[in-house]
Amino acid sequence: MKNRLVVIGLFGLSALTIAAQSVDVTGPDGKLKVNVSCESGKVSYTISYEDKQMLETSPLGMNTNIGDFSKELKLVKHETSEIDRIYAQTRIKTSSVHYRANELVCHFINVDDKPMQVTFRVSDNDVAFRYTLPKSGEAGSVRVLSEATGFRFPDVTTTFLCPQSDAMIGWKRTKPSYEEEYKADAPMSDRSQYGHGYTFPCLFKVGEYGWALVSETGVDSRYCASHLSDSDNGLYTIAFPMPEENNGNGTVEPAFALPGSTPWRTITVGNTLKPIVETTVPWDVVEPRYKSEQNYRMGRGTWSWILWQDNSINYADQVKYVDLAAAMGYEYVLVDNFWDKNIGCERMEELVAYARQKGVGFILWYSSSGYWNDIEQSPLNHMDNSIIRKREMRWLQKIGVKGIKVDFFGGDKQETMRLYEEILSDADDHGLMVIFHGCTLPRGWERMYPNYVGSEAVLASENLIFQQHFCDNEAFNACLHPFIRNAVGCMEFGGTFLNKRLNRGNDGGTIRRTTDVFQLATSVLFQNPIQNFALAPNNLTDAPEVCMDFMKQVPTTWDETRFIDGYPGKYIVLARRHGTTWYVAAINAMKDPLELEVDLPMLAGQTVSLYVDGKKLEPLLKEQPIKADGKLKLTVQPLGGNVLVK
Ligand code: CA
Repeated sequence: MKNRLVVIGLFGLSALTIAAQSVDVTGPDGKLKVNVSCESGKVSYTISYEDKQMLETSPLGMNTNIGDFSKELKLVKHETSEIDRIYAQTRIKTSSVHYRANELVCHFINVDDKPMQVTFRVSDNDVAFRYTLPKSGEAGSVRVLSEATGFRFPDVTTTFLCPQSDAMIGWKRTKPSYEEEYKADAPMSDRSQYGHGYTFPCLFKVGEYGWALVSETGVDSRYCASHLSDSDNGLYTIAFPMPEENNGNGTVEPAFALPGSTPWRTITVGNTLKPIVETTVPWDVVEPRYKSEQNYRMGRGTWSWILWQDNSINYADQVKYVDLAAAMGYEYVLVDNFWDKNIGCERMEELVAYARQKGVGFILWYSSSGYWNDIEQSPLNHMDNSIIRKREMRWLQKIGVKGIKVDFFGGDKQETMRLYEEILSDADDHGLMVIFHGCTLPRGWERMYPNYVGSEAVLASENLIFQQHFCDNEAFNACLHPFIRNAVGCMEFGGTFLNKRLNRGNDGGTIRRTTDVFQLATSVLFQNPIQNFALAPNNLTDAPEVCMDFMKQVPTTWDETRFIDGYPGKYIVLARRHGTTWYVAAINAMKDPLELEVDLPMLAGQTVSLYVDGKKLEPLLKEQPIKADGKLKLTVQPLGGNVLVK
C-alpha cells in the first residue's frame, strides 16, 4: 500500500490558515487509488483506476448541530491498516467472500477543535467510506443537518439512473418505493423526472475508461436512507429524504448517539462491467446486527396474486396454489392481501396445516401501515405497532407460518429505517423470515439481518400484468437489473411467467413478448434467496414440459456468480454456480438475433444441457458440447434467451 502525507504551503501563522494536505490509499493490487486532500479547510477525494481518473475532486464532510464538519477542517493524523477476512453468506450472489482491503482513517478537527474521522476501505474494485464522530465534550448525540458528500464524474460520463419519486403520490399515496423507470445511456445534463435526483444504486459509464456504480450500505435504525441529487456540472451529492415522506411524520435529518458513524457510501469501479456485476461491497463492510437461533430455509414459492389477483385470495384457490407448490417440489406458498378477511384466521390455520402435510410452508402478506398512506389492503395496522406486531407474530409462529411479506412502507426517513429493523428483529424472535415490498433498497441487509430474505424496490412482475408497456419493455429492464439494482441487493421480482397471456385464464390481459426460454433465464439472472415464481396451476398442463422440468430444479441460492458478457439494457450473459452445477443464462433485449462467442472456462470440454429458442421460438433442450478452450458460440433471439446447465 502506498500512502503519503504531504504538507505544503503553510503561509502565515494565523489559526485559520490551513495547509493543503493529501493522503493516498490504494487497493491490494494497486490499481484502484483514492486520494484524500484537505485544501483551504475543505476535504475532498478523487478516485482513479489504472491511473485513469474515474472520479474528479469530490467533496466530503457534513454539517451537524454540534459543529460544522464541512469547512475549516484540518487533517491532524491518519492511520492505515490491512483488512483480510473471509465470511459466509447464504442469501447473496456468492456463498463465501474473501474481503481484502486497505483501510485509511483520516482524523480531522474543525475550527472548534471538534473531531471527525473519515474511514476509507479500498479493495481491488470497491471504495467504501463513512464518517465517524467520536464523543468529545458533553454532547452525547448528534443530528446531521446535511452532508457535503459528493461524486463528481468526468464530462464524458453517461448515466443509467432511476429517478426518486415525489412523496405521497401514486397508488394509495405509497411512493416513493423505488418503482420508477430507468433511463439508459443518458447524459449527465439530463434532469431527473421529479427533480429529486436518483435512487441507489446509480450506474455511470466513464467514457472509454470504464464503469462506476455508486450506492450505500449499512443503513439501519441509526440513519436515514439517502439518494443522489441531480447533477450540478457532473457533481452528484448525497440527498436526504423529503419532508413529505411518511405522511410528513419523522424528521429528514438523521440523528445518532456518540460515538457513532454514518452508513457507508460505496463506489465500485472497473474498466469492464465484471466488478460491478460481481461486487460484494454491500456486505463486505457491514456486520450482523443480531445472531439468530433459527435455521431458515431458502427456496421457491408460488403466489396466486400475481396472475389471479385479489379474487384468488380464498380458501379454494389457495389450495390450488399449495398443490402447485407441492407438484413443483417448492418450499413455499405466498398468500397476498385480504387473507384475513377472505379466508380468516381460523381457516388460515387449517390451510397452513394442509400445506404442511404436503411439505409446503406459508408466507403471509401484511401492510406496513399505519399512518403513512391510504392502503385498504389488509391486514392493516399490525406491523407498525410493537404491541400488535408481537402478538400477531406469536400467532404466526404458533400456527407454523414461515415468513411474512410486508408491503407499502413510508419512504426513506430514519423513522422508517427503524420500522424495517424492528419488524426484522421481532420476526426473528418468532422464527419468521421477512420479505419487503413497496419498499426501499436493501442496504447490506442480507448480512445484517439473518431472517431478511428479499425486497422488491424495483418495477417488479406485477407491472407486466398492469400495463402492456411493461411487457413491451420487459427485456430492456431485465437487461438492466444484473448491472444495477440486483448487483447490490437481493431483488424479490416475483417473475418467470409461463402464461402467454397474463391473466387467470391465460386468454386475456397483457401479452408477454418474451420467449419461454427468456423466462427460464430470468429465474437464474434475478437473484433473491426466496423466489416466488409467477407460475399458475394451468401451467402444469399448458406450459411446455421442458420448461416445467427446468423450473422444478432451478435453485435460488448461489455459491458463485460470474459476469460473462453484456451491456446494460441490451443483453446479459451471467453464470451462477449452485454446488457443483453451473447455470449460464443469456437474454437479448435488442431487435436482432445476437451472435456471441462466450468464454466458459469452467465448462471447458464438457457437454451441457442447452435450453434455447427454436425456429418458432418454442423452447428446445439440446445437448451442447463445449470446446476444450471453453469457447462457445451462442445465438440469442430478440426477446429470447439461452440457459446452459451442467
Ligand atoms: Ca410493488
